[in-house]
Amino acid sequence: MSSTAPARLADAAAERGIKYFLISFTDLLGRQRAKLVPAAAIGAMQRDGAGFAGFAAYFDLSPADPDLLALPDPATLIPLPWKPDVGWLAADLRLRGMPLDQGPRNLLRRVLAEAAGAGYVMKSGVECEFFLITPDGRAIADAADRGAKPCYDAAALMRRYDVIAELCDAMQALGWSPYQNDHEDANGQFEMNWQYADALTTADRHAFFKFMVRSIAERHGLRATFMPKPFLDLTGSGCHAHVSLWRGEQNLFAGEADLSPLGRQFVGGVLHHAPALCALLNPTVNSYKRINAPVTASGATWSPNTITWSGDNRTHMIRVPAADRFELRLADGAANPYLLQAAILCAGLEGVQVRRDPGPRLDIDMYTQGHTVSDARRLPLNLLDALRALDASPLFAQRFGKGFISAYARLKQREWNEYCRQLTDWERDTTLDC
Ligand SMILES: [Mg+2]
Repeated sequence: MSSTAPARLADAAAERGIKYFLISFTDLLGRQRAKLVPAAAIGAMQRDGAGFAGFAAYFDLSPADPDLLALPDPATLIPLPWKPDVGWLAADLRLRGMPLDQGPRNLLRRVLAEAAGAGYVMKSGVECEFFLITPDGRAIADAADRGAKPCYDAAALMRRYDVIAELCDAMQALGWSPYQNDHEDANGQFEMNWQYADALTTADRHAFFKFMVRSIAERHGLRATFMPKPFLDLTGSGCHAHVSLWRGEQNLFAGEADLSPLGRQFVGGVLHHAPALCALLNPTVNSYKRINAPVTASGATWSPNTITWSGDNRTHMIRVPAADRFELRLADGAANPYLLQAAILCAGLEGVQVRRDPGPRLDIDMYTQGHTVSDARRLPLNLLDALRALDASPLFAQRFGKGFISAYARLKQREWNEYCRQLTDWERDTTLDC
């Protein structure tokens, strides 16, 4: 995005016919917030930022705190493909004249800068699975999409051609180089892939992609959801990340037949910190119904249960499909685009620093033969266990900062407590006659 960054957004408005700017940021829980600013006012906003009451979004702030100022990053400007006179902008957050330590984009920029100081650039791509459902959120939108093994179903894909092609056309026009679209493994589920890039670009595109998919689906009378497990018997929505680490033009992960020693150490770090990573990459109560899940109607969940790695084998947390990158299959559709990248980078670089051994590569079907590996670590079974792992992690306290971790933990603990206050039908059915 940076190659076309306009220095003055007011000029960009005049040149590109932009009437309004949508100054946007992603809050701590991954929700996108924005203000719509007329082009005539953008000069002052670019200089001073747009003001928000931080407490009104998901941050650990108080109603008494001063304005949170969102400073738009001109390099991120995207005229909305479905309304080109509105220009979307990702913003960085400041409070009391300082970068907000809870700001997910601020955090990613900081850890990327630290990595750059050590000579590393992380590149990544994300695979955001989503469902197209009815506007009331209760069912998949296509009643004819009922196949028992619906992955790559050509007819079901083409019944959604209008939506998928509009999204893909938009990504092509934006220069993201999309290269394939498919019906995924659950009824009503789709995935669209575009080219990998540096981690900040990918995070901004990931945030915009979710906004765009929801917006365009809505214009077609549908609803799009990235919820990790909206239907218990169907495969959930993952957000697999493909990761490599570069120095200049050199991919430091590239080995001959396997990842380089540095690549293996990076993988070792991601494996070592997996329980704490879950709190960030599987951030909702619902996330744990996708990982560790029983077999779905299609025959496989495609999500990991164990902290293990393999070659081109999708039953482990980490797949190494080629000797130049790895795929982390842990994150789900609820993952905050910025925290996803920041967390992978910090865990992996720690592995490089201390030269972590990733352990043996397991070339087995982990779903059916997992019981033969007695010492495979299991992923946390619920959000609370993951939050406790994050709380106990010196790495994340140090790299994300105590301010960030305590704010995140407070919001997430509140969510867990709220969940525990629910009385479910299952409890009544199993306990009434106790
Ligand atoms: Mg997929």
